[in-house]
Amino acid sequence: MKAILDHVGIAVQDLGQALAFYRDALGLDIEAPEEVASQRVRAHFVPVGASNLELLEATAPDSAIARFVEKRGPGLHHITLRVEDIRAALARLKARGIRLVDEEPRPGAEGALVAFVHPSAAHGVLLELKQPRAERPPAPGPDLRPQRFALGALRLTSVNDGLFRLDGGAMFGVVPRTLWERKMPPDDRNRILLAMRPLVVEAGWGRLIVDCGAGDKMDARSAEIYGLDRRRHLDHALAEAGLEAASFDYVLATHLHFDHFGGATARDAGGALRPRFPRATYFIRRAEWEDATHPHERNRASYLADDFVPLEKAGVVAFYDADQEIQPGVRVVRTGGHTGQHQIVYLESEGQTAVFTADLIPTTAHVQDPWIMGYDLFPMETLAFKKRFIREAIEREYLIFFEHDPYVAAGYIRERDGKRIVEPAPGG
Ligand SMILES: [Zn+2]
Ligand SMILES: [Zn+2]
Repeated sequence: MKAILDHVGIAVQDLGQALAFYRDALGLDIEAPEEVASQRVRAHFVPVGASNLELLEATAPDSAIARFVEKRGPGLHHITLRVEDIRAALARLKARGIRLVDEEPRPGAEGALVAFVHPSAAHGVLLELKQPRAERPPAPGPDLRPQRFALGALRLTSVNDGLFRLDGGAMFGVVPRTLWERKMPPDDRNRILLAMRPLVVEAGWGRLIVDCGAGDKMDARSAEIYGLDRRRHLDHALAEAGLEAASFDYVLATHLHFDHFGGATARDAGGALRPRFPRATYFIRRAEWEDATHPHERNRASYLADDFVPLEKAGVVAFYDADQEIQPGVRVVRTGGHTGQHQIVYLESEGQTAVFTADLIPTTAHVQDPWIMGYDLFPMETLAFKKRFIREAIEREYLIFFEHDPYVAAGYIRERDGKRIVEPAPGG
């Protein structure tokens, strides 16, 4: 039986005095109290590392804590071990003839199931077993297979360069964790899972890729910080989609952040940095290039010169200045906000429209107007653009590509009963 020390229960006679010691003298944090009606106690949890102290205050004279204090005075009351399956644990103890207080589990604090083992069996210690409230079942793993979409004369293929993790708070700006964690549960380092999903566009004029993921140049320390998971990356996705890197004519950057354009260059066998797509012309907005090559303290960590400077040296960059059609049906529109020159990409053919929204709407959790990344340099600009854009996207039923969503590559934004949702559009 696997067990972890969950908490140590301490019976308290005078809560004020107990707080004066545990909170004020020791300087520990005390959580908001929780009533456990079934045991007529109020529990005050005091986090100490992976475990807690639990100050127990009787709420009725017939409570077990009141009787304990009356008999023995305040003090150590019980220890609690966390188990995975409390019924299995009780069955195991019962089979060995261990004396139990509770033969069946009962409800405890924080929605857990608990049962006590008799102190006579546990060598003078009242032992509580606890099975925490079941966490939500883990979400199914992200589906990283290429997804194809037909849009008039354009063939769109959503590919990916693996997964990474960013701080959940930074991804949602002013939105409190209590709201975003329901949509994107953080790991134990407060990071949420994100994907990098470039988009391949093919038409009579050739083959283009919008953004190209982080690539494989990241050093081990950064890879650890960002939880970079490239067990499946762009090479796999392109191979599955039957697309050779050498077959691309154009590469288009929404902006030059490493998670969007790190894959634009790669090291050759001799360690030199080369264009990752050897035949391609790289379209980069000139003012974004200027920002990326003159970073400041706030954006320096996102602009890595190795991602784009070698392209200019290789003479493969086509700079441009204003919103325009890059190829027939592929149009860039500056949003600003996230970076001064951040762009989204409109894909238009035969009256249909899809939009690759990059960091304007990085995941499906970002479709509410104020859910704006803390990374954005000009969040009010993001808000203004986003409000207009999402209204337009709903009314005209744009197919939206979410570059960082780990689960949904593309979908339609809908409004139902005043609530915004995304209806996923799984590609073929
Ligand atoms: Zn970005
Ligand atoms: Zn990004």
